[in-house]
Amino acid sequence: MKTRAVVLHKIGHERPYTETKPLTIEEVELGEPGYEEVLVKIKAAGICHSDLSVVDGNRPRPVPMVLGHEASGIIEKVGEHVKGFEVGDHVVFAFLPSCGQCKYCQSGRTALCEPGAAANTAGTLLNGDKKITKNGETYYHHLGVSGFADYSVASIHSLVKIDKNIPFDIAAIFGCAILTGVGAVVHTAEMHAGESVMVVGLGGVGLSAILGAQAAGASKIIAADINPYKLDVAKDFGADDVVNSSDKDAMEKVKNMTDKGPDISLEFAGAMPALDFAFNATNRGGRTVTAALPHPDSRLSLNPLTLVGQEKTLKGCYLGSSSPKVDIPNFMDMYQAGRLPVEKLITHRMKLEDINEGFERLAAGEAIRQVIIFD
Ligand SMILES: [Zn+2]
Ligand SMILES: [Zn+2]
Repeated sequence: MKTRAVVLHKIGHERPYTETKPLTIEEVELGEPGYEEVLVKIKAAGICHSDLSVVDGNRPRPVPMVLGHEASGIIEKVGEHVKGFEVGDHVVFAFLPSCGQCKYCQSGRTALCEPGAAANTAGTLLNGDKKITKNGETYYHHLGVSGFADYSVASIHSLVKIDKNIPFDIAAIFGCAILTGVGAVVHTAEMHAGESVMVVGLGGVGLSAILGAQAAGASKIIAADINPYKLDVAKDFGADDVVNSSDKDAMEKVKNMTDKGPDISLEFAGAMPALDFAFNATNRGGRTVTAALPHPDSRLSLNPLTLVGQEKTLKGCYLGSSSPKVDIPNFMDMYQAGRLPVEKLITHRMKLEDINEGFERLAAGEAIRQVIIFD
Protein backbone atom coordinates (compact mmCIF):
# COMPACT_ATOMS: atom_id res chain seq x y z
CA MET A 1 0.00 0.00 0.00
CA LYS A 2 0.99 3.66 -0.35
CA THR A 3 1.55 5.86 2.68
CA ARG A 4 2.94 9.30 3.50
CA ALA A 5 6.17 9.17 5.48
CA VAL A 6 8.81 11.58 6.81
CA VAL A 7 12.17 10.64 5.30
CA LEU A 8 15.71 11.62 6.28
CA HIS A 9 18.15 11.19 3.35
CA LYS A 10 21.38 12.29 5.02
CA ILE A 11 22.51 12.87 8.58
CA GLY A 12 24.27 15.96 9.90
CA HIS A 13 22.11 18.89 8.83
CA GLU A 14 22.70 22.56 9.68
CA ARG A 15 20.08 24.79 11.28
CA PRO A 16 17.72 26.49 10.95
CA TYR A 17 15.74 23.45 9.85
CA THR A 18 12.92 25.72 8.71
CA GLU A 19 15.29 26.71 5.89
CA THR A 20 17.51 23.65 5.35
CA LYS A 21 14.46 21.33 5.56
CA PRO A 22 16.27 18.09 6.40
CA LEU A 23 13.05 16.07 6.37
CA THR A 24 10.88 15.42 3.34
CA ILE A 25 7.35 14.08 3.25
CA GLU A 26 7.13 11.40 0.58
CA GLU A 27 4.68 8.84 -0.68
CA VAL A 28 6.31 5.45 -0.09
CA GLU A 29 5.30 1.85 -0.64
CA LEU A 30 4.66 -0.17 2.52
CA GLY A 31 4.88 -3.97 2.31
CA GLU A 32 2.34 -6.39 3.78
CA PRO A 33 2.72 -7.36 7.45
CA GLY A 34 4.54 -10.71 7.65
CA TYR A 35 5.30 -13.23 10.39
CA GLU A 36 4.45 -11.74 13.81
CA GLU A 37 3.91 -8.34 12.20
CA VAL A 38 0.95 -5.97 12.00
CA LEU A 39 -0.10 -2.89 10.06
CA VAL A 40 -0.73 0.07 12.36
CA LYS A 41 -2.63 3.23 11.42
CA ILE A 42 -0.67 5.90 13.26
CA LYS A 43 -2.82 8.30 15.30
CA ALA A 44 -0.17 10.35 17.14
CA ALA A 45 3.64 10.59 17.21
CA GLY A 46 5.90 12.58 19.53
CA ILE A 47 9.09 14.35 18.42
CA CYS A 48 11.92 13.30 20.73
CA HIS A 49 15.44 14.61 21.13
CA SER A 50 16.77 11.26 19.87
CA ASP A 51 15.08 11.99 16.52
CA LEU A 52 16.90 15.30 16.46
CA SER A 53 20.17 13.49 17.25
CA VAL A 54 19.78 11.49 14.05
CA VAL A 55 19.09 14.65 12.03
CA ASP A 56 22.05 16.59 13.50
CA GLY A 57 24.42 13.61 13.28
CA ASN A 58 24.94 12.96 17.00
CA ARG A 59 23.32 9.56 16.69
CA PRO A 60 24.33 8.15 13.30
CA ARG A 61 21.80 5.80 11.71
CA PRO A 62 21.56 4.27 8.22
CA VAL A 63 19.69 6.40 5.66
CA PRO A 64 17.33 6.88 3.94
CA MET A 65 15.24 6.32 7.04
CA VAL A 66 11.62 6.99 7.98
CA LEU A 67 12.00 8.71 11.36
CA GLY A 68 9.89 8.69 14.52
CA HIS A 69 10.14 6.33 17.48
CA GLU A 70 7.34 7.45 19.84
CA ALA A 71 3.88 6.71 18.49
CA SER A 72 0.42 5.29 19.08
CA GLY A 73 -2.18 3.90 16.71
CA ILE A 74 -4.76 1.28 15.81
CA ILE A 75 -4.05 -2.15 14.34
CA GLU A 76 -5.59 -2.39 10.87
CA LYS A 77 -4.25 -5.72 9.64
CA VAL A 78 -2.43 -8.69 11.14
CA GLY A 79 0.17 -10.93 9.48
CA GLU A 80 0.70 -14.63 10.20
CA HIS A 81 1.30 -16.04 13.66
CA VAL A 82 0.12 -12.91 15.45
CA LYS A 83 -0.89 -13.76 19.00
CA GLY A 84 -2.23 -11.31 21.57
CA PHE A 85 -3.18 -8.58 19.07
CA GLU A 86 -6.16 -8.15 16.79
CA VAL A 87 -7.58 -5.63 14.33
CA GLY A 88 -8.95 -2.62 16.21
CA ASP A 89 -6.56 -2.86 19.16
CA HIS A 90 -5.06 0.42 20.33
CA VAL A 91 -1.28 0.18 20.68
CA VAL A 92 1.78 2.11 21.75
CA PHE A 93 5.18 1.44 20.19
CA ALA A 94 8.18 0.68 22.37
CA PHE A 95 11.37 1.88 20.66
CA LEU A 96 13.23 -1.33 21.45
CA PRO A 97 11.64 -4.65 20.46
CA SER A 98 11.95 -7.48 22.98
CA CYS A 99 12.44 -10.90 21.40
CA GLY A 100 11.36 -12.76 24.54
CA GLN A 101 14.01 -15.43 23.88
CA CYS A 102 17.46 -13.98 24.64
CA LYS A 103 18.98 -14.28 28.10
CA TYR A 104 18.11 -10.65 28.92
CA CYS A 105 14.46 -10.98 27.92
CA GLN A 106 14.28 -14.29 29.78
CA SER A 107 15.59 -12.67 32.96
CA GLY A 108 13.22 -9.70 32.72
CA ARG A 109 15.84 -7.20 31.50
CA THR A 110 14.10 -6.56 28.20
CA ALA A 111 15.79 -3.15 27.85
CA LEU A 112 18.95 -5.13 27.02
CA CYS A 113 17.39 -7.42 24.38
CA GLU A 114 20.27 -8.33 22.05
CA PRO A 115 18.34 -9.17 18.85
CA GLY A 116 16.23 -6.03 19.50
CA ALA A 117 19.33 -3.81 19.74
CA ALA A 118 20.85 -5.47 16.64
CA ALA A 119 17.69 -4.84 14.59
CA ASN A 120 17.58 -1.20 15.73
CA THR A 121 21.22 -0.66 14.75
CA ALA A 122 20.59 -2.28 11.36
CA GLY A 123 17.43 -0.17 10.80
CA THR A 124 15.19 -3.21 10.34
CA LEU A 125 12.23 -4.80 12.10
CA LEU A 126 13.04 -7.46 14.72
CA ASN A 127 13.17 -10.32 12.20
CA GLY A 128 15.38 -8.35 9.81
CA ASP A 129 12.53 -7.28 7.52
CA LYS A 130 12.52 -3.92 5.75
CA LYS A 131 9.04 -2.95 4.60
CA ILE A 132 9.39 0.54 3.16
CA THR A 133 10.45 1.16 -0.45
CA LYS A 134 10.28 3.92 -3.04
CA ASN A 135 11.00 3.41 -6.73
CA GLY A 136 12.79 0.16 -5.89
CA GLU A 137 15.00 1.73 -3.19
CA THR A 138 14.63 0.30 0.34
CA TYR A 139 14.25 2.72 3.26
CA TYR A 140 15.34 1.92 6.81
CA HIS A 141 13.06 1.69 9.84
CA HIS A 142 13.73 3.92 12.85
CA LEU A 143 13.94 1.77 16.00
CA GLY A 144 11.26 -0.59 14.69
CA VAL A 145 8.70 2.24 14.78
CA SER A 146 9.02 4.79 11.91
CA GLY A 147 6.06 6.60 13.40
CA PHE A 148 6.20 9.80 11.35
CA ALA A 149 3.93 8.24 8.75
CA ASP A 150 0.23 7.59 8.21
CA TYR A 151 0.86 3.85 8.44
CA SER A 152 3.63 1.63 9.77
CA VAL A 153 4.33 -2.09 9.66
CA ALA A 154 5.80 -3.28 12.96
CA SER A 155 6.79 -6.41 14.83
CA ILE A 156 4.32 -7.33 17.56
CA HIS A 157 7.38 -7.41 19.83
CA SER A 158 7.61 -3.62 19.40
CA LEU A 159 4.00 -3.07 20.49
CA VAL A 160 2.04 -2.78 23.70
CA LYS A 161 -1.75 -3.07 23.74
CA ILE A 162 -3.38 -0.27 25.72
CA ASP A 163 -6.68 0.83 27.24
CA LYS A 164 -8.90 2.40 24.57
CA ASN A 165 -9.83 5.24 26.96
CA ILE A 166 -6.34 6.75 26.81
CA PRO A 167 -6.21 9.57 24.21
CA PHE A 168 -3.73 8.81 21.41
CA ASP A 169 -1.61 11.94 21.90
CA ILE A 170 -1.12 11.08 25.56
CA ALA A 171 -0.55 7.40 24.77
CA ALA A 172 2.22 8.11 22.26
CA ILE A 173 4.54 9.77 24.76
CA PHE A 174 4.47 6.75 27.06
CA GLY A 175 6.60 4.89 24.50
CA CYS A 176 9.76 6.94 25.04
CA ALA A 177 9.58 10.03 27.28
CA ILE A 178 7.56 8.55 30.11
CA LEU A 179 8.90 5.00 29.94
CA THR A 180 12.48 6.32 30.07
CA GLY A 181 11.98 9.16 32.56
CA VAL A 182 9.80 7.38 35.11
CA GLY A 183 11.69 4.11 34.61
CA ALA A 184 15.01 5.84 35.32
CA VAL A 185 13.66 6.85 38.74
CA VAL A 186 11.83 3.73 39.84
CA HIS A 187 13.83 0.99 38.07
CA THR A 188 17.37 2.20 37.37
CA ALA A 189 17.85 4.42 40.45
CA GLU A 190 15.48 2.29 42.56
CA MET A 191 14.38 5.41 44.40
CA HIS A 192 12.83 4.97 47.84
CA ALA A 193 10.22 7.33 49.26
CA GLY A 194 11.96 10.08 51.22
CA GLU A 195 15.09 10.31 49.07
CA SER A 196 16.15 13.56 47.44
CA VAL A 197 16.50 13.73 43.66
CA MET A 198 18.12 16.06 41.16
CA VAL A 199 17.19 15.95 37.46
CA VAL A 200 19.71 17.45 35.02
CA GLY A 201 18.44 18.13 31.49
CA LEU A 202 14.77 19.10 31.29
CA GLY A 203 13.43 17.79 28.00
CA GLY A 204 10.48 15.42 27.77
CA VAL A 205 12.41 12.62 29.48
CA GLY A 206 13.81 14.80 32.28
CA LEU A 207 10.42 16.32 33.06
CA SER A 208 8.89 12.82 33.06
CA ALA A 209 11.51 11.88 35.64
CA ILE A 210 10.34 14.78 37.81
CA LEU A 211 6.78 13.44 37.61
CA GLY A 212 8.07 9.96 38.44
CA ALA A 213 10.09 11.18 41.42
CA GLN A 214 7.07 13.02 42.73
CA ALA A 215 4.80 10.00 42.31
CA ALA A 216 7.38 7.78 44.03
CA GLY A 217 7.60 10.08 47.06
CA ALA A 218 10.84 12.04 46.71
CA SER A 219 11.51 14.29 49.71
CA LYS A 220 12.94 17.01 47.49
CA ILE A 221 13.25 17.47 43.74
CA ILE A 222 15.84 19.81 42.21
CA ALA A 223 15.70 20.60 38.49
CA ALA A 224 18.83 21.72 36.62
CA ASP A 225 19.33 22.97 33.07
CA ILE A 226 21.12 25.77 31.23
CA ASN A 227 17.88 27.02 29.62
CA PRO A 228 15.86 29.44 31.87
CA TYR A 229 12.60 28.55 30.06
CA LYS A 230 13.06 24.88 31.01
CA LEU A 231 13.68 25.87 34.64
CA ASP A 232 10.36 27.74 34.73
CA VAL A 233 8.58 24.74 33.21
CA ALA A 234 10.16 22.43 35.81
CA LYS A 235 8.61 24.44 38.65
CA ASP A 236 5.20 23.80 37.12
CA PHE A 237 6.05 20.08 37.04
CA GLY A 238 6.67 20.07 40.78
CA ALA A 239 10.38 20.79 41.17
CA ASP A 240 10.98 22.25 44.65
CA ASP A 241 14.12 24.10 43.61
CA VAL A 242 15.73 24.93 40.29
CA VAL A 243 19.33 25.71 39.44
CA ASN A 244 20.97 26.97 36.27
CA SER A 245 23.83 24.50 35.96
CA SER A 246 25.91 27.00 33.95
CA ASP A 247 26.10 29.33 36.99
CA LYS A 248 29.54 29.38 38.63
CA ASP A 249 28.12 28.56 42.05
CA ALA A 250 25.62 25.95 40.79
CA MET A 251 27.32 23.09 42.66
CA GLU A 252 27.35 25.02 45.93
CA LYS A 253 23.67 25.92 45.47
CA VAL A 254 22.71 22.27 44.99
CA LYS A 255 24.73 21.22 48.05
CA ASN A 256 22.91 23.88 50.08
CA MET A 257 19.48 22.92 48.75
CA THR A 258 19.97 19.40 50.10
CA ASP A 259 21.89 17.72 52.90
CA LYS A 260 25.25 18.02 51.06
CA GLY A 261 23.87 16.81 47.74
CA PRO A 262 20.95 14.77 46.39
CA ASP A 263 20.72 11.04 47.10
CA ILE A 264 20.01 10.50 43.41
CA SER A 265 21.05 12.55 40.36
CA LEU A 266 19.57 11.73 36.98
CA GLU A 267 21.16 13.12 33.83
CA PHE A 268 19.29 13.41 30.51
CA ALA A 269 21.18 16.21 28.73
CA GLY A 270 23.69 14.18 26.75
CA ALA A 271 26.49 16.70 27.38
CA MET A 272 29.57 15.72 29.36
CA PRO A 273 29.51 18.83 31.62
CA ALA A 274 25.94 17.86 32.60
CA LEU A 275 26.93 14.32 33.55
CA ASP A 276 30.00 15.61 35.38
CA PHE A 277 27.78 18.05 37.30
CA ALA A 278 25.27 15.32 38.15
CA PHE A 279 27.94 12.91 39.38
CA ASN A 280 29.84 15.47 41.46
CA ALA A 281 26.69 16.88 43.04
CA THR A 282 25.45 13.46 44.21
CA ASN A 283 25.83 12.90 47.93
CA ARG A 284 28.06 10.25 49.56
CA GLY A 285 26.59 6.81 48.95
CA GLY A 286 24.33 8.24 46.22
CA ARG A 287 23.42 7.02 42.77
CA THR A 288 23.95 8.89 39.52
CA VAL A 289 21.92 7.64 36.58
CA THR A 290 22.45 8.69 32.98
CA ALA A 291 19.91 7.98 30.26
CA ALA A 292 21.20 10.51 27.72
CA LEU A 293 22.69 9.48 24.40
CA PRO A 294 25.78 11.62 23.79
CA HIS A 295 27.85 11.51 20.60
CA PRO A 296 29.64 8.13 20.31
CA ASP A 297 33.06 9.84 20.58
CA SER A 298 32.22 11.43 23.96
CA ARG A 299 34.44 10.51 26.92
CA LEU A 300 33.78 11.09 30.61
CA SER A 301 36.54 11.92 33.07
CA LEU A 302 35.78 11.13 36.68
CA ASN A 303 37.70 10.72 39.89
CA PRO A 304 37.60 7.00 40.76
CA LEU A 305 38.66 7.79 44.32
CA THR A 306 35.30 9.53 44.81
CA LEU A 307 33.57 6.44 43.50
CA VAL A 308 35.37 4.30 46.08
CA GLY A 309 35.76 6.58 49.09
CA GLN A 310 32.18 7.83 48.88
CA GLU A 311 30.66 4.58 47.62
CA LYS A 312 28.98 6.34 44.73
CA THR A 313 27.26 4.47 41.92
CA LEU A 314 27.17 5.56 38.28
CA LYS A 315 24.57 3.64 36.32
CA GLY A 316 23.47 3.66 32.69
CA CYS A 317 19.78 3.51 31.85
CA TYR A 318 18.23 2.48 28.54
CA LEU A 319 14.44 2.44 28.02
CA GLY A 320 14.15 3.29 31.72
CA SER A 321 15.43 -0.24 32.51
CA SER A 322 11.77 -1.03 31.87
CA SER A 323 9.74 -3.90 30.49
CA PRO A 324 7.35 -2.00 28.19
CA LYS A 325 4.59 -4.62 28.23
CA VAL A 326 4.45 -4.42 32.04
CA ASP A 327 5.44 -0.83 32.70
CA ILE A 328 3.46 1.07 30.04
CA PRO A 329 0.09 -0.26 31.32
CA ASN A 330 1.22 0.34 34.94
CA PHE A 331 2.34 3.91 34.25
CA MET A 332 -0.93 4.48 32.33
CA ASP A 333 -2.85 3.35 35.42
CA MET A 334 -0.94 5.98 37.41
CA TYR A 335 -1.90 8.58 34.78
CA GLN A 336 -5.57 7.59 34.93
CA ALA A 337 -5.48 7.79 38.73
CA GLY A 338 -4.09 11.33 38.49
CA ARG A 339 -0.69 10.43 39.93
CA LEU A 340 1.28 11.00 36.72
CA PRO A 341 -0.02 14.19 35.02
CA VAL A 342 1.83 13.54 31.77
CA GLU A 343 -0.46 15.82 29.72
CA LYS A 344 1.70 18.70 30.96
CA LEU A 345 4.51 17.46 28.71
CA ILE A 346 2.67 18.28 25.49
CA THR A 347 3.42 21.87 24.50
CA HIS A 348 2.49 21.59 20.81
CA ARG A 349 0.05 19.54 18.75
CA MET A 350 0.89 19.78 15.05
CA LYS A 351 0.44 18.39 11.56
CA LEU A 352 2.90 16.13 9.77
CA GLU A 353 3.47 18.89 7.19
CA ASP A 354 5.08 21.08 9.86
CA ILE A 355 7.76 18.52 10.74
CA ASN A 356 10.78 20.75 9.94
CA GLU A 357 9.30 23.60 12.00
CA GLY A 358 8.86 21.13 14.86
CA PHE A 359 12.49 20.03 14.71
CA GLU A 360 13.67 23.65 14.67
CA ARG A 361 11.54 24.44 17.74
CA LEU A 362 13.01 21.43 19.54
CA ALA A 363 16.58 22.35 18.58
CA ALA A 364 15.98 25.92 19.77
CA GLY A 365 14.81 24.61 23.16
CA GLU A 366 11.37 26.17 22.71
CA ALA A 367 9.25 23.05 23.09
CA ILE A 368 8.91 20.13 25.47
CA ARG A 369 6.87 17.44 23.72
CA GLN A 370 5.43 18.20 20.29
CA VAL A 371 2.96 15.61 19.14
CA ILE A 372 2.00 15.11 15.52
CA ILE A 373 -1.71 14.36 15.23
CA PHE A 374 -2.94 12.19 12.34
CA ASP A 375 -6.51 12.11 11.01
ZN1 LIG B 1 12.91 9.14 22.38
ZN1 LIG C 1 15.54 -10.46 23.75
